[in-house]
Amino acid sequence: MTDFKREGSHLAYCPPVEKWDDWMELDPEAWPKRVEKHYDLVPTICFNCESACGLLAYVDKETGKVAKFEGNPMHPASRGRLCAKGPATINQIHDPDRVLYPMKRNGARGAGKWTRTSWDEVLETFGTRIRKAIQEERGEEVMYHVGRPGHDFIMERTLQAWGIDGHNSHTNVCSSSARLGYLLWHHADRPSPDHANARFILLLSAHLESGHYFNPHAQRIIDGKMAGAKLAVMDPRLSNTASMADCWMPTYPGTEAAVLLAMAKVILDENRFDAAFVRNWTNWEELEVDGFKAKGQTFEALIEALKKHYARYTPQFAEKESGVKAEVIVKTAREIATAGSRFASHLWRGSASGNLGGWQPARALMLLHVLTGSVGTEGGHNLNAWNKFVPKPFKVPPPQKRWNELLYPPEWPLCTHEMSFLLPHFLKEGRGRIEAYFTRVFNPVWTYPDGFSWIEMLRDEEKVGLHAALTPTWSETAWFADYVLPMGFSSERHDLMSQESYAGKWIGFRQPVNRVLRERAGEKFEYTYQANPGEVWEEDEFWINLSWAIDPDGTMGIRQYFESPYRPGQKLTVDEYYGWIFENSVPGLPETASKEGLTPLQYMRKYGAFEVTKDVYKLNEKPVAAADLAESRIEANGVVTKAGKPVGVMVGDAAVVGYNTPSRKLELFSKTLVDWKWPEFALPEYYRSHIHRSAHAASQGDAAEDFDPKYTPVVEWPKDAHGEVYTLLPIFRLPNLIHTRSGNARFLYEISHKNPLWVNPVDAKKLGGIRTGDLMKVHTEIGYFVLHAWVTEGLAPGVVACSHHLGRWRVNKDDQVERMSSAWVDLKEVGKGQWKMRQLEGVSPYESADPETKRVWWSDAGVHQDITFPVHPDPVSGMHCWHQMVRVERAGPDDRYGDIFVDTNLSFAVYQRWKALARPAPGPGGLRRPLWIPRVVRPEDAAFYFKKD
Ligand code: SF4
Repeated sequence: MTDFKREGSHLAYCPPVEKWDDWMELDPEAWPKRVEKHYDLVPTICFNCESACGLLAYVDKETGKVAKFEGNPMHPASRGRLCAKGPATINQIHDPDRVLYPMKRNGARGAGKWTRTSWDEVLETFGTRIRKAIQEERGEEVMYHVGRPGHDFIMERTLQAWGIDGHNSHTNVCSSSARLGYLLWHHADRPSPDHANARFILLLSAHLESGHYFNPHAQRIIDGKMAGAKLAVMDPRLSNTASMADCWMPTYPGTEAAVLLAMAKVILDENRFDAAFVRNWTNWEELEVDGFKAKGQTFEALIEALKKHYARYTPQFAEKESGVKAEVIVKTAREIATAGSRFASHLWRGSASGNLGGWQPARALMLLHVLTGSVGTEGGHNLNAWNKFVPKPFKVPPPQKRWNELLYPPEWPLCTHEMSFLLPHFLKEGRGRIEAYFTRVFNPVWTYPDGFSWIEMLRDEEKVGLHAALTPTWSETAWFADYVLPMGFSSERHDLMSQESYAGKWIGFRQPVNRVLRERAGEKFEYTYQANPGEVWEEDEFWINLSWAIDPDGTMGIRQYFESPYRPGQKLTVDEYYGWIFENSVPGLPETASKEGLTPLQYMRKYGAFEVTKDVYKLNEKPVAAADLAESRIEANGVVTKAGKPVGVMVGDAAVVGYNTPSRKLELFSKTLVDWKWPEFALPEYYRSHIHRSAHAASQGDAAEDFDPKYTPVVEWPKDAHGEVYTLLPIFRLPNLIHTRSGNARFLYEISHKNPLWVNPVDAKKLGGIRTGDLMKVHTEIGYFVLHAWVTEGLAPGVVACSHHLGRWRVNKDDQVERMSSAWVDLKEVGKGQWKMRQLEGVSPYESADPETKRVWWSDAGVHQDITFPVHPDPVSGMHCWHQMVRVERAGPDDRYGDIFVDTNLSFAVYQRWKALARPAPGPGGLRRPLWIPRVVRPEDAAFYFKKD
């Protein structure tokens, strides 16, 4: 692990491990005197995005307080480096407005009246309710809904131990479309690009600052660039990432698949594809398209059929759709072909999450990888499943037997994750109710579209019986809970995390810094909240104790999973949970630890991370295990099966494991899409997004060329609508923002706290000479918001843009709120489902335990745009399509900065229009969804089938 240690006297210097027990720095506040300060350095893991970079907490030996956070040089993915959000953890833990004690409401939901309660009371209340629900076979009424995930597997285990189908996530407003595109090719739903070794890197959208593996990927992209790689970025907006690129392609949003397929056409037509790879590693023999059936035909005939099929995606067509010049498209295609197996790419949010059909760009991008043979290669595209390591704990419960249609409804059988953003509409339609609801670091009222529908749901006690917000901060959603339960930040909790950051596998260990240090000094704690500020708990211990409260005597079969593997019948401790994993499930860790005379747990507490393996490539070529080969058979399509289950595939004479798809190969032709009623998309295709210009025209009653209402809902504007129709890009973010939690990170909020409307000068002129700072009114399908304009050339003409992650608001002026980041608002329901919000006061300096809050100099908290968006479930992936067709005009005399209006009756109508485009289950054999497609917290196979009655 010494590879990661960087020493020297420059800024990249990281303290060497041998000095972590007593690290000296001069006190900057005492300067020019040279006063020494001594620190204990304790590793932990950042909680401010999913990258899970390694932090080092600097604990002042004199005060026992964490003084700052820097990078952990022993962490294999982040290698001692952090983005701005890592060090800002210091603000979060010392935030004077944070939640410190369990709180219970003592007025109506949303009235903002709270009293302190005890953890025992919380456990008793929820334990009793959940026990009753499970015993009465109403387990589906218990739901855990995660916003920021920050751990691997422990919640899956907990919910399966309870026997319920109750896991909900935020993924369908985040990345589901990209995931579906990848998954249909190779089962793994995320890429793991080997940027550092690539020769050409193509990023779609503001990949880096949109937060996906921000720091670990950014440093490897720079490694690749320094070794000579070229970087191209496709994004309508000149993002920070695009500004560092060799080529910026500002596509009109939603047209990216057209550009990618045009590149594929160039590579095919110029015969620059890797024929051996395509022949060996795709399911080309299953392909049926345009009357051509590959079965029994030659590979050459297949290539001709593909060329014919993609003939329509000429660079000129792509230019017309996207605005990117045909010669740029051709040049980029040739660069990709030249990079060959060293072509890396990434696509996550942006085009994937903004657009109807946003899963097609991932399908099209993968076609480029398949044609260049850059799958599984050094410098190419690897699979997340190859690089993410999730060790299993002791005693894994069996899969649950039930299927919860509030999570996976029949309309979207191919959704990769739960249809979480439609929950208020599902409850409104009478599909079910929730008895006990846990929102976990999750703020849908603010981060989701259609937040007022969430407020309506959350305040309705018929629909949601009991709601606990597990959160480190006050939030717009916590406001409508019955209990607000304080959870810890990066240095206040245990979690185990791994991500696919590079071509290797690692695990990182988050730990409660104060508890660890005090236990090192000989103190003993039963629970982490005893060592944390206030009574901030960690979830691991909360779930263990809640499980005991549900099943106190063990008769429900739940408690057994939360008993110690070392002390039969005794309550499991976190040391035992992680200690067992490190001893038994992490290859190489016990041996490495013992070389230093440490137990595996001591090793992880000391270093905070462990690299399990490196240089992971081409796992598809691994031979099928001898045990699997015994008594196996080879099916007609070359798939090797054992007891009816696929275990590999024949490639030439070799039986290799291949990919986890039905064909065990990369699925160029998706029979799954054919079987599940989308035969027209069996090959990667392009179709027009809901914000395509043709959809703009259709919304205004104009005949639009190629507009097909079968795929795209028509926006219905009110009769008296005014303003110019535009596409709004709402899903980029300024790179220092962290959803709700930037609200209590003062350093970050100081850097950026306003989200104006980006307008290109061409459009500013069209809109009547708009200038920066002018007040604009943006109408969505269900309401409007009012904000300032920012005239900039950093955005392609024809679209407008506004950063999300800003526009926090609070109903109480001073109590139980985040004051440094939110506007104080007047929130009113002026008619049934008609909501108005007006800012009464922006941010201002205030007295608190932290003298810095008196120095708050900014007053703007931004404008909450997401709450004015209706839901747009993609008919195939189920993902919310974030881009909005809007009407933009100058604000009127009665409009004020930050004004918001929404009619949730309209939002329900928009939901119905989008739902009508879906093609519901059942699929073949009465299935709810394909058995081979993963599901979060997967039930037993029998639950995948509709019951006969
Ligand atoms: S990329 Fe930044 S926010 Fe994300 S884990 Fe790393 S340091 Fe934290």
